[in-house]
Parts: sequence; structure tokens; C-alpha cells
Amino acid sequence: MTTVRPSGASQPRAVSSGVATPYGVCREPTNVAAGGHACPLRFRCLGCEHFFTDVSYLPDLQAHLADLLRSRERLMSAFEADDWARAQAMPSDEEIGRVRRLIDRVRTDLDTLTPEDRAHIDQAVALVRRSRTVMLGMPRIHQPLPDVRPSRNPE
Ligand code: SF4
Repeated sequence: MTTVRPSGASQPRAVSSGVATPYGVCREPTNVAAGGHACPLRFRCLGCEHFFTDVSYLPDLQAHLADLLRSRERLMSAFEADDWARAQAMPSDEEIGRVRRLIDRVRTDLDTLTPEDRAHIDQAVALVRRSRTVMLGMPRIHQPLPDVRPSRNPE
């Protein structure tokens, strides 16, 4: 399996250095050099060309999608707020679509695996997620898992 970025382009594993972001890793050189403190896009990672993710983030991506959908439902109900505040807080269709496509790509990659490879990936993911919890706040160590980045193709 390959590394995939928002444009849908593949990325060789050799360029996998980066810093941790929510749901994946950032490979934007300036931000990486600054240890993750110099994002020019205010951490809108899911819409960024420099964002990569992998199968180990699938549960987080699924939880994020559920959060976005719940937020949208709440904001569309009788929630009192100024229009500008509601508009800024409202998850966009594009954002929701981006997360959905990303999840689909990760799942599609998983579907191509043999049961044996899938079992190996599941074990690796469990290990990575455990170590990620322990290493919270530390720079990300690159894991031998396939990376994915969201497609920019319209839905
Ligand atoms: S938005 Fe892009 S540049 Fe900023 S932290 Fe996320 S991936 Fe890196």
C-alpha cells in the first residue's frame, strides 16, 4: 500500500519525516523545522497538501466524522447564536466530504489485504496506538504503516 496525500498523489515512504498533527502527520518543511509550531494554515490539516495519515488513525478519523455530523445537527437546530458565529462553527460539506473520502481510502486499502496481512496490520496498529498514547506530546516516530492523504476530488 502507498502513502496518499490530499491531491491523491502517492508518496514514497522515504519522505515520511514530519511532526504529529491531529489524525496524522505534517510534512510541511517550515512547520517540521519549527517542531509543529509554525503552521501557515492554522492547522486546517485535513485540507492541506502537507498532511498525511495512515490506517492507525482510522478510529480517530471516524470519531472526527461523527463529531462533525453531530455538530452540524446541533447547529442546524434551534441553537441561539449570531449568524457569523454559527457560519464559522458549522462544519462545511467540503470538510465532511474530505474526511469521508479519507476514511474510504484507508478502508479501500485495507480491503485489498489478505486476511493474514490484515491481521499483521491490525497488530501493528494496536501497537502504534498504544505507543502513541504513551508518547503523547512527543515528536511522532514514523511507523511502518501505509499513509493516506485526503483526495481533493469533488464528491
Ligand atoms: S495544516 Fe498543513 S502545514 Fe499546517 S500543520 Fe497541518 S499539515 Fe502541517
